[in-house]
Amino acid sequence: MSVDTTTQTTAPFIATVPGTARIGANRELKRAVEAYWAGRSDRAALEAVAADLRATSRRALTDSGIDSVPVNTFSYYDQVLDTAVMLGALPPRVEAISDPLDRYFAAARGGAGHSGPDHSDTDSVAPLEMTKWFDTNYHYIVPEIGPDTSFVLDATKVLAELAEAAADGVHGRPVVIGPITFLALSKAVDGADAPLARLDEVVALYADLLGRLAEAGAQWVQIDEPILVTDAVENLPALAESVYSTLSEVATRPSILVQTYFGDARESLAALARTGVEGVGVDVVAGGVESVKSAGLGDKVVVAGVVDGRNVWRTDLDAALATLESLRGSVGSLAVSTSCSTLHVPYTLAGEDGLDDALRGWLAFASEKHDEVVALARAYANGRADQDEAFDAAATALASRTNDPRLHVDSVRTRLAGLSSADWTRPDSAARRAVQHAALNLPALATTTIGSYPQTTDIRKARQALRTGAIDDAEYTRRMRAEIADVIALQETIGLDVLVHGEPERNDMVQYFAEQLDGFFATSNGWVQSYGSRCVRPPILFGDVVRPTPMTVDWTAYAQSLTAKPVKGMLTGPVTILAWSFVRDDQPLAETANQVAFAIRDETIDLEQSGAAIIQVDEPALRELLPLRAADRAAYLAWAVTAFRLSTSGVADATQIHTHLCYSEFGEVIGAIADLDADVTSIEAARSHMEVLADLNGIGFANQVGPGVYDIHSPRVPAADEVTASLREALSAVPADRLWVNPDCGLKTRTTDEVAEALTNMVAAAHAVR
Ligand code: GLN
Ligand code: ZN
Repeated sequence: MSVDTTTQTTAPFIATVPGTARIGANRELKRAVEAYWAGRSDRAALEAVAADLRATSRRALTDSGIDSVPVNTFSYYDQVLDTAVMLGALPPRVEAISDPLDRYFAAARGGAGHSGPDHSDTDSVAPLEMTKWFDTNYHYIVPEIGPDTSFVLDATKVLAELAEAAADGVHGRPVVIGPITFLALSKAVDGADAPLARLDEVVALYADLLGRLAEAGAQWVQIDEPILVTDAVENLPALAESVYSTLSEVATRPSILVQTYFGDARESLAALARTGVEGVGVDVVAGGVESVKSAGLGDKVVVAGVVDGRNVWRTDLDAALATLESLRGSVGSLAVSTSCSTLHVPYTLAGEDGLDDALRGWLAFASEKHDEVVALARAYANGRADQDEAFDAAATALASRTNDPRLHVDSVRTRLAGLSSADWTRPDSAARRAVQHAALNLPALATTTIGSYPQTTDIRKARQALRTGAIDDAEYTRRMRAEIADVIALQETIGLDVLVHGEPERNDMVQYFAEQLDGFFATSNGWVQSYGSRCVRPPILFGDVVRPTPMTVDWTAYAQSLTAKPVKGMLTGPVTILAWSFVRDDQPLAETANQVAFAIRDETIDLEQSGAAIIQVDEPALRELLPLRAADRAAYLAWAVTAFRLSTSGVADATQIHTHLCYSEFGEVIGAIADLDADVTSIEAARSHMEVLADLNGIGFANQVGPGVYDIHSPRVPAADEVTASLREALSAVPADRLWVNPDCGLKTRTTDEVAEALTNMVAAAHAVR
């Protein structure tokens, strides 16, 4: 389409972000809420920390030159839960808790929300569920919509944050999650219809909200609709058009920016263009510019997310500016932003003193990304010359990254180039089973565990002491070996058939490997919120992956030396290592996955050589990287499965490969699970009543399987007859000679007493059923 450039308006703002992190650059909010939950601090102390974090965040954005500052992006726990509160949609079971903040925390994490003496009369409640926020590693609280949910607008939080900013001299742009996304992410309970059936009611509340915001002086409001980049709901473009036509007809309201992110909103962009909203936010990193150009956005403000909000790499500013220039003429006016909230990246490179200078130059965390947004916005407005310094520095860093020898290791490249399907194919699984049976001679309904045993205080203390230099490597090794010996002795007493070493030496199942592989870097303060007060520090996979030495062999071999029973080697799979790291963006993910797969493959071969007859390669994140659009999924699953198989196909037929997956909804990954071709697959099943077994039978899966027979997520110890019942349920779907008996997941979050009792009951159940 052609656009008359004379209709272009002056941009109301030129540089912004859809949102920012809120946990604090030094995890101040984490400490403050945890102290509050534990009754170690009071409400006033918590609120003071929160207000300070909001002020710091506003100041940082303003100082960097961002000229439209998002507000209401703070959260004590989660923005979806905040939206449920705003819409009066908390479940009835938390209503007995009269204090709003404690009710909120109870919904998020169960209990009374606060354990202080003044709240001890409140009965404990079960929390809402939590699940992954689109394809990120952030988890949101899933709102429950029942037949009795009556939506009522509560604009307290958003109005307070807007007023607080105004008092601070900042004219903020309130941000709320939109009605379509909110309802699409909610779940129906107690027999209610799908939550989206309530869309009209909820939209009416948003219409009221717009009026309230206008009254409070907001000139813009940002309404987030990331659901529009998925095909999770039918007819999204039509829904978007209808909802935003209605909302744009509200008489007195701020200008509306409908913000999308995490992908390409495609037809929904054109649908939004047909409504009266003033602005549309697009993710051109994950989604590209083509659909933006053709959407008919010639009279809208387009907020172009051209700086990657989800990864840690410094932006190629010249390339980004060219992308923005390509939009000139097809948009009304343009503002630059990150592709999504910078919630998903660490706060700042300042203080990352451990990084080498080259690597440091390649990176941009949130505060550096905010500066990039401003440099791009000014260059778009005034020409590159206006920002030469920033652009030249970015170009130099990019050249240094491209030329760094660590990104192109010949031995790795040669090995990858020589790959063929023989490298990821093992002989027929039935044949393998016969050889393995002869070698291992395990009983039917063999019992085992998933890998980790409780991470005790002693273990944490030892790790801490090693870090601070209070103990040396030799002493650390001695203490870890003592832990391993205890765990082996415990398993022998309990009578398990296949033992594990217990993973005491692992801080985290990805970081542990990243620290030992070349091509990875660990940050010192690169924390990112995972959910609530929980943060993770993902390693940065920046270069070609090389395994300089074996990573797990000594520990496993030591454990094996203590027992005549088989000890499973325990590794993390390539897909999970990628999913829980920040990954280089200069080559296809599939290639990076195969590099990691080679490192894991070499480790399996060394483990086998050291005497391990069974090796487990965990892939709990297999489903996490699943693309948001159904059409992209087959290609992803193909490379993910290949990488896993590459990592597990270097061993002899007699070596038994296990894998572990821990989620309970399989949907489209069920076929991929079978394609992994592990000899034994342990899988979460206890909470979903073994449904997965029927799904696996449905696709003709004939390998061995260990459905979790009890849920490890709760401290409750299952009685032997409960486990027996689960096991009988499993046996009705899978014959005994293909069935293993194990818990749902690793045991690191439980206490040793709970574990000893639960596993004793599990083994008793296996014996009873045998
Ligand atoms: N082997 C790991 C453990 O037992 C697996 C953890 C996981 O599935 N997330 O802890
Ligand atoms: Zn698990």
